[in-house]
Amino acid sequence: MMQNDVVVVGGGISGLSLAFYCVQAGMKTTILEKNDTIGGSFASPHYSANGKKFWLEMGAHTCYSSYQNLLEIVETCGMKSNIIPRAKVPFTLFKDGQIKSIVSQLNIPELLVSIPNLFTLKKDSQSVKSYYSKIVGERNYREVLSHFFNAVPSQRTDDFPADMMFKSRAKRKDVLKNYTFKNGLQSVAQAISGRSGLNVFTNQNVNSIQYVDGLYEIRTPEGGEYSAKTLVLATPSSVSSQLLKGIKPDVANHLGILKAADVDSLGVIVRKENISMKPVAALISPDDVFFSVVSRDTVPDDNYRGFVFHFKPGLDEKTKKNRITEVLGITMAKVEHTISKINTVPTLQLGHHEWLAKTDAMLKKEKNLLLTGNYFGGMAIEDCVSRSRSEFGRMKG
Ligand SMILES: Cc1cc2nc3c(=O)[nH]c(=O)nc-3n(C[C@H](O)[C@H](O)[C@H](O)COP(=O)(O)OP(=O)(O)OC[C@H]3O[C@@H](n4cnc5c(N)ncnc54)[C@H](O)[C@@H]3O)c2cc1C
Repeated sequence: MMQNDVVVVGGGISGLSLAFYCVQAGMKTTILEKNDTIGGSFASPHYSANGKKFWLEMGAHTCYSSYQNLLEIVETCGMKSNIIPRAKVPFTLFKDGQIKSIVSQLNIPELLVSIPNLFTLKKDSQSVKSYYSKIVGERNYREVLSHFFNAVPSQRTDDFPADMMFKSRAKRKDVLKNYTFKNGLQSVAQAISGRSGLNVFTNQNVNSIQYVDGLYEIRTPEGGEYSAKTLVLATPSSVSSQLLKGIKPDVANHLGILKAADVDSLGVIVRKENISMKPVAALISPDDVFFSVVSRDTVPDDNYRGFVFHFKPGLDEKTKKNRITEVLGITMAKVEHTISKINTVPTLQLGHHEWLAKTDAMLKKEKNLLLTGNYFGGMAIEDCVSRSRSEFGRMKG
């Protein structure tokens, strides 16, 4: 059995960032990841053909100057010079088969009457629907803004806590307001995984954990055997709940309360000359089979364009491909390559702050059990890294 100071289950940005803090502190750390690559929703698969290379973001696509904890890690990994700007192409609505600007769809008089509420209304204890309907007006919220909100976690967000959707955080002045990285966001995941003292094992689907004589023991169906004094679970809440059932039933039950949604993402790569659609950052289509189409036009390429359709779960391949061809205005024969991915995102509801306070109270006596992920302070990359940082701090006391 391979002995470690820390074993991290889940190799998305939450697990990677927690592992980063552990190895910085000199702890022997191992990450176990179920998929064949690390990154989770921070995934930029690469495609190459005839000497030409291209990458596509299958999940997250944008980082901001306010991602201070992430930026610290990026700097330590020597990745700051890999930060690149995103081209200024618009986020648009796709309605009646046409691309429309957001402003063109807003009812301006309703917006002007409502917008002063921005300066007086507080987000606390308000749902996204109740808060933003008052800020932009009920019709503007229902017909325009709500679809943009739904596109963020690829599910209906009416009941999400308003203060967890978009947070205002202190920004760094020396970094672009919004950016990505040369070779995509996953290059950051790869840089972290290369840190000295960190072992990363992929294709390790952890399905049970034992706690024996003060050590966590993990045996994977793939034959891996790992032990550690400290266990980090950086998997979706339902997986973490399942893994804790036999060893910490109270925490497992508490995690089991949360809900999450699967996002069925299909990326298509098309030669530039085969598509005439004008460059966009994303298309959002109200009441469609997809929540959003995120484009690679934000980092233009000489040869290819790429589009990731974030579909509602449960659709068959034919329905997905038909919609792709309708939206892009091309036949599937013009698609050179496709990539599929399922991402899991939390379904947050009012009362989440109370759930979180109870979680942290329960973990107070569990110094060697750390829980991180995108279902604590929020789902943005920086929320994940912040959670990992505070969990690391809790362990170190
Ligand atoms: C479509 C989309 C777009 C987004 N866009 C942005 C954006 O632009 N900016 C932003 O800040 N945020 C964005 N987000 C949110 C952000 O990307 C995610 O919340 C964040 O990457 C989640 O990281 P995580 O490590 O918590 O979870 P995940 O990335 O889901 O990682 C969990 C990992 O655990 C692994 N795992 C699961 N079960 C097991 C098991 N039993 N054994 C071993 N491993 C297991 C999974 O394979 C996965 O790799 C986006 C999310 C999505 C889905």
